[in-house]
Amino acid sequence: MVAQVIDGKAFAAKVRAQVADQVAKLKEENGITPGLAVVLVGEDPASQVYVRSKGKMTVEVGMNSYEHKLDVDTSEKDLLALIDKLNNDPAVHGILVQLPLPKHLNEDLVINSIDPAKDVDGFHISNVGLLGTGQKSMVPCTPLGCLMMLRDHHGSLSGMDAVVVGRSNIVGKPMAQLLLGDSCTVTIAHSRTKDLPDVVRRADIVVAAVGRPEMVPGDWIKEGATVIDVGINRIERDGKNKLVGDVDYASAAERAGAITPVPGGVGPMTIACLLANTLTACCRANKLPEPEGLTA
Ligand code: NDP
Repeated sequence: MVAQVIDGKAFAAKVRAQVADQVAKLKEENGITPGLAVVLVGEDPASQVYVRSKGKMTVEVGMNSYEHKLDVDTSEKDLLALIDKLNNDPAVHGILVQLPLPKHLNEDLVINSIDPAKDVDGFHISNVGLLGTGQKSMVPCTPLGCLMMLRDHHGSLSGMDAVVVGRSNIVGKPMAQLLLGDSCTVTIAHSRTKDLPDVVRRADIVVAAVGRPEMVPGDWIKEGATVIDVGINRIERDGKNKLVGDVDYASAAERAGAITPVPGGVGPMTIACLLANTLTACCRANKLPEPEGLTA
């Protein structure tokens, strides 16, 4: 079997176009422009790149983008004061604090100071609890993107066996909750899982979110399974820098029914879902119907 490639780049462009359409409608019919505030503390080069591309895409879909760049030694008090100001600003519907934060800042405290209704990353403890109890929440962007691609490919996921490899708070755990919400039978695997190859071989859906280059070989994949590779790993091969996932793409593509490539799979969906979440937050804040197909 040769796997169908799930083109995350094309899918993300479709999601962004849907968001842009809805934003245009909101402006025309309600005079409202969704706004996303991104807070960056310090000058981490990777974070700067992410923040720049988030700002660019926010503007491209017609939303307002507010960037707050703070000094690396900004105090917790000053950062919390800024978040409080953004929480109370009606023009701001989404707030994202770019992680990781410098060591002297308490990440949990900072994230939990964001108004949960504006927490477009879905990391606030209230949103974690709401997702865990199957209630309406803001859902973390990367797992939301994975869910959208799976729904698009399969239609219903009901009754499918899903294995999520990785149990982080930002990917593995929320991914498992979302799959459970769509009535999959879900296994969460991690570094202590026994017989990981056997566990993965049982799955109709494999989501790999480990952070280890090409750790999942093709012979762990059940014939015809759908493979979602969240991993983004920079490696050097043949003297060149290369981006690879957590799945060995070449061998997995020979057995899977469908697979996301790296790059061009899950990655582009993450920012698209951030924009979708900002739109959702704006609709909720204004008591308007939520955008269809862009939420969990
Ligand atoms: P974390 O490091 O927070 O979590 C990794 C998880 O993998 C842990 O639960 C760990 O288990 C598990 N793990 C580690 N080694 C093994 C092993 N040998 N066998 C089984 N499980 C293992 O990573 P993240 O969840 O933050 O990210 C995972 C990957 O996804 C990274 O490559 C990251 O770059 C990428 N990523 C991509 C995004 C995108 O937009 N596409 C967004 C976010 C992340 P344990 O808990 O037992 O230690």
